[in-house]
Amino acid sequence: MINNATFADQLLAWFDHHGRNHLPWQKNRNGYRVWVSEIMLQQTQVTTVIPYFERFVGRFPTAKDLAHAPIDEVLSLWTGLGYYSRARNLHHSAITIAEQHKGQVPKDLESLMALKGIGRSTAGAIISQAYNQQGIILDGNVKRLLTRLYAIEGWPGQSQIDKQLWGIATDLTPNQRNADYTQAIMDIGATVCRPKQPLCVACPMQNHCQALAQDKVATIPTPKPKKDIPHKNISVLLLKNKHGQTCLEQRPSKGIWGGLWSLPEFANLKALQTQLALDGLPTQTRPLAPIKHAFSHYKLTIEPHLLVLDKMPQKISENSKSQWYDNQQIHTIGLATPIKKLLEKTP
Ligand code: SF4
Repeated sequence: MINNATFADQLLAWFDHHGRNHLPWQKNRNGYRVWVSEIMLQQTQVTTVIPYFERFVGRFPTAKDLAHAPIDEVLSLWTGLGYYSRARNLHHSAITIAEQHKGQVPKDLESLMALKGIGRSTAGAIISQAYNQQGIILDGNVKRLLTRLYAIEGWPGQSQIDKQLWGIATDLTPNQRNADYTQAIMDIGATVCRPKQPLCVACPMQNHCQALAQDKVATIPTPKPKKDIPHKNISVLLLKNKHGQTCLEQRPSKGIWGGLWSLPEFANLKALQTQLALDGLPTQTRPLAPIKHAFSHYKLTIEPHLLVLDKMPQKISENSKSQWYDNQQIHTIGLATPIKKLLEKTP
């Protein structure tokens, strides 16, 4: 079994030759830039995050700038990145940072974890990456690396395995070169100890890796027990007026696409037509090609129905969050991605 000092030394030696040190959040490093990058990276790969990060910090260079921005603009810059609660939490926490921490991202674990959207691993990453202090991380990449290195079987989401992994991660983390160590352990997990076809021949840990020695690399980490993914169908109304504007509704702040703009949604076509009749509108709509969209916990089929009005209605529905938008405006608001695609191809 590898000892802690050897692990850190070998990992840092590997990092000095192969690690990533030109990522945009590694330039002008500060708590705010590292925090934004860590939140974006929570569910998304580095190459996807880079342009979003550049746009986001270009528009909101500090936590105070973010705190003062309207949430709609924040969501607009997040459109396409998914998991929108991350953007809402970021905005909420920026307000807390502006009000309670003089605009500076905190440097201690407790204050960081008191902010919305920051868990223990993200807090550890911020402490080490932004402030070069000892911060422990255990993201998905690190979990995969450690379960293989120690041949730990069983789904890592189980609480006793999670606890065991935190213990190992804590023991292995050195108290110097903290920012480099954190980047190194994330990088090796992402680029060498990959989920599929890990590059064991290029891995500095190959002589210490228990999964490799026991020929268990392909089966560790143990996958999450499978549940059937449910499937849901909805109908949406693509209502256009004679000026070419589209009627959009803002979704509730909680739930799927929380706070984003979308089309009025109905359980099925019958419910959609009932609402049109109640609003005194024609009920003959034109069906458009269905759109399929996959979330992590269910699959969605969206059936759009087009209705073009030749005169403006008295009211669209009881929803006070409805508004008419020009096609050019859809790029300036936070829109659900499949709906944005639909609007772009239905001018
Ligand atoms: S030897 Fe292979 S399985 Fe083991 S840590 Fe390295 S890349 Fe991962």
